[in-house]
Amino acid sequence: MFDKVPDAPPTIARQSDCQTCYMCELYCPVDALYVAPESDVTTSVNEAELAEVGLLGSYRENIGWGHKRTSTAKADQTFQILKQMK
Ligand code: SF4
Repeated sequence: MFDKVPDAPPTIARQSDCQTCYMCELYCPVDALYVAPESDVTTSVNEAELAEVGLLGSYRENIGWGHKRTSTAKADQTFQILKQMK
């Protein structure tokens, strides 16, 4: 959840409304975002630390989205979880 800021990058707003869908991280063309996977936990983060450990844009990178990356969709085995649920 972001708010527009004139002549500046958007700012995070209404963090409690986030549903951890990762779409903002996936569509950020410069790998500047990190979505914490714990949707029910408010997480305090430090941008410099996230960058240092390589978490900014890491979901996007692992999915294979972005310039000169290869999609990992064919290797995705998530559908196996659905088979086990039946
Ligand atoms: S993870 Fe999804 S719901 Fe959360 S801020 Fe990004 S786009 Fe919005």
